[in-house]
Amino acid sequence: QTSDDRAAKIPRYVRVNTSMWSTEDAILFYTKRGFQLQGPFASSKGFGIDEHIPDLLAFNPALQFRDDPSYKTGKIILQDKASCFSAFVLSPPCDDSNAVVIDATAAPGNKTSHLSALMGNKGKLYAFERDKRRFSTLKMMLAKAACRNVEAVNADFLTIDPFHPKYSLATHILLDPSCSGSGIVNRLDYLLEDGESLVLEEDRLNKLAAFQLMMIKHAMKFPHVQKIVYSTCSIHATENEHVISHALQSDEAKNSHFKLAPRNDVLPTWSRRGQAEEMKGTSNADSLVRCSPGEDGTNGFFVSCFIREHHSVLPQP
Ligand code: SAM
Repeated sequence: QTSDDRAAKIPRYVRVNTSMWSTEDAILFYTKRGFQLQGPFASSKGFGIDEHIPDLLAFNPALQFRDDPSYKTGKIILQDKASCFSAFVLSPPCDDSNAVVIDATAAPGNKTSHLSALMGNKGKLYAFERDKRRFSTLKMMLAKAACRNVEAVNADFLTIDPFHPKYSLATHILLDPSCSGSGIVNRLDYLLEDGESLVLEEDRLNKLAAFQLMMIKHAMKFPHVQKIVYSTCSIHATENEHVISHALQSDEAKNSHFKLAPRNDVLPTWSRRGQAEEMKGTSNADSLVRCSPGEDGTNGFFVSCFIREHHSVLPQP
């Protein structure tokens, strides 16, 4: 199968930005414009309600939505279904004005705006982005999506002191770091980073994996963090299961008592799970979620969720 064949099996997903309107209003809006709730592949005007992710609609893949008023005004986010898994699994506190959440690698901001909406636009969401150009895209996207609880920070997450008075209070961290992008077959909503290409070499994968592991270990040092979601749009075990096994065996995971969340907390009804044979001595592949490009009606994706066993606070070293 070519990339185009696989892309044709992926609906055009539209996440309703619940910071601006409700899914009921969105359905009414599209129905009035001639769309029919009969599934994304029934006709070019068919659409459906996703069964796994709340507030996600699926339209025919041929549709673009770039000129649609709902897109231009920030009321919808064009985001692949699998990419919505990360914020949904992190499940940040909702309507809690004391909540503190971190999106460690935020631009262009699809998952940031999703987290902000899930938080009911309350509390504080710190969105880090190290690249200057991508940081401006992030700021634009956050303004367009009416994310009022987000403070965007143009900084490298690895340089952030976990005991910094502002950031140390974070209880939930989303890590969606740079990856090979090897799962993406429908490139509409994926913004390539500077110098990024789709040519993969083992050396490049290993470098990415080393960086991804460093990011997880850094997130585990935040004293109040209880939950960390790590996701990639890669299909390579090197960036997925291997990184998770190393993270689980790290001193940081041991000192902070992190383990993988049970399957029940990580999209339990999604059948494609982690690859057990790639888990290298750790045995919880069932806690991990994989999406196979095209086959699952999504791009290729990987999601994992670490939780802290004892709800303790780490002492300052
Ligand atoms: N979560 C984003 C979304 O859904 O829109 C996509 C994130 S993209 C895969 C990874 C981003 O992390 C890139 O914009 C990259 O510049 C940024 N990044 C990479 N390393 C970083 C670091 N150490 N600190 C902060 N941002 C970083």
